[in-house]
Amino acid sequence: MVDRYQKMTASGPGALLARRLGLPRPEILERHRPGRPVLSGPVVVDGAEGGRLTGPLRELVASLPGAASGSAGSPGSPGSSGSRDATAALVFDATGITGSGGLRALHDFFHPRIRSLAPCGRVVVLGTPPEAAGGVRQAVAQRALEGFVRSVGKELRRGATAHLLLVAPGAEDAVESTLRFALSARSAYVSGQVVRIGQPVKGTAAPADWERPLEGRTAVVTGAARGIGAVVAETLARDGATVVCLDVPGQGGELRELAGRIGGDALELDITADGADGALAEHLSARHGGVDVVVHNAGITRDKTLGRMDAAKWDSVIAVNLTAVERLTERLLETGDSGRPVLREGGRIVCTSSISGIAGNVGQTNYAASKAGLIGLVQALAPVVAGRGVTVNAVAPGFIETRMTAAVPLFVREAGRRMNSMKQGGQPVDVAEAVAYLASPGSGGVSGQVLRVCGQSLLGA
Ligand code: NAD
Repeated sequence: MVDRYQKMTASGPGALLARRLGLPRPEILERHRPGRPVLSGPVVVDGAEGGRLTGPLRELVASLPGAASGSAGSPGSPGSSGSRDATAALVFDATGITGSGGLRALHDFFHPRIRSLAPCGRVVVLGTPPEAAGGVRQAVAQRALEGFVRSVGKELRRGATAHLLLVAPGAEDAVESTLRFALSARSAYVSGQVVRIGQPVKGTAAPADWERPLEGRTAVVTGAARGIGAVVAETLARDGATVVCLDVPGQGGELRELAGRIGGDALELDITADGADGALAEHLSARHGGVDVVVHNAGITRDKTLGRMDAAKWDSVIAVNLTAVERLTERLLETGDSGRPVLREGGRIVCTSSISGIAGNVGQTNYAASKAGLIGLVQALAPVVAGRGVTVNAVAPGFIETRMTAAVPLFVREAGRRMNSMKQGGQPVDVAEAVAYLASPGSGGVSGQVLRVCGQSLLGA
């Protein structure tokens, strides 16, 4: 859907008016296009003394397509933002900070450079998960990084984002996939997030081709006929996957058109129907010999405040958004007649939660309960399936421009669009890129987590 306000403020007179009145001017975000390098400009990498990641980070960043190195010792001039040589990214290894006094290193590094960050630039801070720190003082300092990064995300203007990557000791080799996502235009609408990178599950490997990480893999996407699901299917196909596009029987036309266009196949199935789990397992086994990536995207809303909500509204939302996800997941993980589960070793499961499931929302007790339940599912299941090389994560979209949000009353819609650091709604592709990152064979160090795709929404932050 078109954001008329963003269009208006992108024009000369509109921009002038917005500036005069002190109104937000949402940046047109840079998004990934096939062949576009991870970075497009100078990157400055540095770290606090004793950081275990600074050396490997320098090498890794230097190897990324499009990265020109900026000198750690020569900050860009304040106010140069937007100029040709503005900094594309500032990357800081904070793992060496062992006490609160050491946090000064953050100020020393970022203060002279932050204003030279390019539009849609990136700030990435790397730390140690506080629970893995060597003592209370270090845990305090590492926990402090979260407040720092979330605030930086809120201060940044012009589509720039900030991330904190907490890398467990021993997981240093599993950083690349997440770092590429955080630095690139693929994470255009993700900001202020903390991603934990742990010991990678069995079989985690950097893809041979980062542009086609899902080559040779099969994915299934539920609710693929339209909205976010259709773009997830397209994005996974772009990344090399053969995609089974699933939606309710009434959506057959759109589903077949999509499947034909991306070289996948269409499966008309109501995921709440009796035997839907068996039908899906049968389709995936018979046609594809199994599946590697499962994206639970299908979802519905039936909003009413609790006192006005009838039981049918409650039941239908829980059935589609949560119970069906549990049933399908359990079935795909079961050992079938072949002696092997339908979800192959090294599989990736991605659920679609929502910031409503994190923050709660008026009129959405049913929906928020279902979306919070999905968070429970990924957190509880991740350790259970890790031994099979399987990861399970959730994306939690904020306000995304789809038919679902077009149906929201105008005032609520405008509030949803502006109440985030990007001052705009996200696009379905923003959720799809997050799903694709979690689905990658290189993302085996990330499991049991919830990645918000919400432009750093104020809700539940
Ligand atoms: P949408 O309504 O445009 O598409 C949902 C799709 O799911 C439809 O094609 C629908 O036919 C399908 N579906 C519904 N019930 C089904 C069933 N029983 N079996 C099979 N398919 C079924 O919604 P969307 O905006 O694209 O949202 C996709 C997902 O993202 C949902 O889970 C939604 O809750 C979540 N989400 C969306 C937003 C947003 O702002 N749009 C925000 C947070 C979360």
